[in-house]
Amino acid sequence: MFSGTHVCQILIEHGRCTGVRTENGTIFAAQHVIVAAGAFSSLLEGMVRPLATRPIRGQMVALESAQPIRHVIRCQRGYIVPRDSAVPQRLVTGSTLEDAGFAKQVTAGGIEKILSTAQELLPKLANAEVVELWCGLRPDTPDHLPLLGPAGVDGLTIATGHYRNGILLTPITAKLVREWIADKQVSMDWEIFNPVRFPSG
Ligand SMILES: Cc1cc2nc3c(=O)[nH]c(=O)nc-3n(C[C@H](O)[C@H](O)[C@H](O)COP(=O)(O)OP(=O)(O)OC[C@H]3O[C@@H](n4cnc5c(N)ncnc54)[C@H](O)[C@@H]3O)c2cc1C
Repeated sequence: MFSGTHVCQILIEHGRCTGVRTENGTIFAAQHVIVAAGAFSSLLEGMVRPLATRPIRGQMVALESAQPIRHVIRCQRGYIVPRDSAVPQRLVTGSTLEDAGFAKQVTAGGIEKILSTAQELLPKLANAEVVELWCGLRPDTPDHLPLLGPAGVDGLTIATGHYRNGILLTPITAKLVREWIADKQVSMDWEIFNPVRFPSG
């Protein structure tokens, strides 16, 4: 409903989260706030302790190849994923793991690494057309595990820091957050993901 609205502050009064403040000063009161701002979660003001997320950039290249493949091909340095079975076939190849702050930029070095690994895995890709380049910021944490659970004040739940597995972990994250907010208990021990487990945020 308010898509694209930038939240800058979590509002906490008397040990309870009461809502959020947006960049234009609007206050949204809420009984429960869930922080799910990915790599940007650490930038939110008002937290009792800043969240320990940091961005790790990942670049990607999409290719169109005249010679289709049927399986995902991967090695330690990268992977090639067929997106369809058409000819020419769209393949996505990645990725990089870069500590570049919040710079969401595709770089010559990153793309070169991805393409050389892809061609090493599948030499025929030398003739594939490059059709798209992009990158994203993964929300990493000091131990690479999510920050998931209550934040130490009533009415505030954290669901971030999923690093390289946020797509895979979406269903279980949503399930646990729903259980916590609706039932005040969860169906697995999630203490290991305690969002305030890092002393200095
Ligand atoms: C190249 C690459 C490949 C990947 N491959 C995989 C994969 O194969 N499988 C897998 O499981 N995961 C993969 N990941 C990781 C996955 O993308 C992340 O773990 C996941 O996107 C994290 O989800 P999220 O919702 O926490 O954060 P995000 O997807 O970053 O979403 C956060 C949202 O919050 C919004 N936001 C941020 N700050 C504010 C604010 N202050 N106010 C309001 N809104 C805000 C942002 O605009 C964004 O919409 C990959 C990541 C990259 C970069």
